[in-house]
Amino acid sequence: MSEPTLFEKIHQGVIPARVLLREDLCFAIEDIDPKAPFHALVIPVKPIPSLAEATDDDGPILAACLGLARKLAQANGLENGWRLVANTGGFAGQTVPHLHFHLLGGRRMGWPPG
Ligand code: AMP
Repeated sequence: MSEPTLFEKIHQGVIPARVLLREDLCFAIEDIDPKAPFHALVIPVKPIPSLAEATDDDGPILAACLGLARKLAQANGLENGWRLVANTGGFAGQTVPHLHFHLLGGRRMGWPPG
């Protein structure tokens, strides 16, 4: 058995975090170092390392993550716009090897991202 990831430990309650929503396939927490007035992480319960390792069988999990992101955005008044980002791999800035989507909102955002 490999060492549980940071987000598995958070899901198990071993490491504390502010949990915003919990569903069977995925859950959402507040990011500990927010980059926008609203910054949550939407995380599948299954520790898929990144989108690069997701398979077609993970489709329902990915759909659940997108649905949870939409519900969170609606529940938190992000009707002016929001961004969903999955940093994938080192060049993209991924630091936690357990797939997660950053849900950012509450301010105007630039494009392209850095
Ligand atoms: P990434 O760099 O795309 O892999 O994103 C990892 C994110 O996890 C960063 O935005 C961190 O701020 C966030 N993070 C790291 N540790 C924690 C924690 N204990 N609770 C909540 N968010 C965390």
